[in-house]
Amino acid sequence: MLEFDFLQPQSLAELMVALDETGGSILAGGTDVIPRMRSNLFSASTLVDVSKIGELSFIEERAGEIVIGALTTHAELMNSEVLRSANPALVDAAASVGCNQTRQRGTLGGNLANASPAADTVPPLLVFDAQVRLVSSDSERTLPLIDFFVGPGKTRLGPAEVIHTVSFPRLTGAWGAAFQKIGKRSGMAIAVVSAAAAVVLDETGKVSDARLALGSVAPTVVRSPKAESILQGQQPTPKLIKAAAQASAGDISPISDVRSTAEYRRHAATVLAERAFQQAVDQAVSLVGA
Ligand SMILES: Cc1cc2nc3c(=O)[nH]c(=O)nc-3n(C[C@H](O)[C@H](O)[C@H](O)COP(=O)(O)OP(=O)(O)OC[C@H]3O[C@@H](n4cnc5c(N)ncnc54)[C@H](O)[C@@H]3O)c2cc1C
Repeated sequence: MLEFDFLQPQSLAELMVALDETGGSILAGGTDVIPRMRSNLFSASTLVDVSKIGELSFIEERAGEIVIGALTTHAELMNSEVLRSANPALVDAAASVGCNQTRQRGTLGGNLANASPAADTVPPLLVFDAQVRLVSSDSERTLPLIDFFVGPGKTRLGPAEVIHTVSFPRLTGAWGAAFQKIGKRSGMAIAVVSAAAAVVLDETGKVSDARLALGSVAPTVVRSPKAESILQGQQPTPKLIKAAAQASAGDISPISDVRSTAEYRRHAATVLAERAFQQAVDQAVSLVGA
């Protein structure tokens, strides 16, 4: 049987003390940690349960910046009116996570710290150029979310450092954003491939900004500069969107594993990229001149 000490700080200040004094591991919703403990893939002498720290659970807009506390659950993300208007791709991604119980317990911070290349919240955050704020008892730093991930299960999180918030600027003008995912079965499905796109159009309908992120096709979720540059400055016709989506294959390095083959992932990534771009463009077109 596993034995460990258990602490439940009630505030961020208490959490900092607990981590400094024990070197313990954070437990948020437990939807990654508990299954890993059961499979003997995770152990800690002290578990620090952060679920009672209300100050880390919020979604706010501050001067055009959307700020999300690390303890915000997937259910709260998918039901947020602020996010529905500022990042509908993130709302759809949160709604696609696991089952209802997983979404009620699982948190944004846990999804990021877990650093799975299949983590559903990551592509919609990367296409909004999100930043992550990390705090410890004696430091505070903010880095681009894309730089936070080092590889599968590996991040730049230091010892006794906590994910505090994730933030991104609201897009303005004629823009759209979309999330697409293929899982192995409906419900409870970890992504075999996922894609998020964000597109901004100028007043003539040409693309002034195109962003694409792909999940489960490389050691971390990746952006696709090759696809993005094809659309930049152009009218986003279906033919050009297809060409951009196909170019994304040059930015990924999928592997074969229990969930899929590399070949399938490479093909599916281009299909999802095309769908996500088209969905984002359709939303943006409806706002040109509005
Ligand atoms: C049945 C099932 C289905 C799932 N389906 C999906 C899915 O479809 N898509 C998907 O992306 N994921 C899925 N997951 C994975 C999981 O639910 C998510 O990754 C979830 O967001 C993890 O959050 P948590 O709060 O439960 O993390 P926890 O399990 O509590 O923690 C996970 C890791 O993050 C660390 N951590 C947590 N919070 C912080 C913080 N604020 N600062 C620093 N470190 C922190 C912990 O120490 C631990 O290492 C599924 C899991 C299950 C069990």
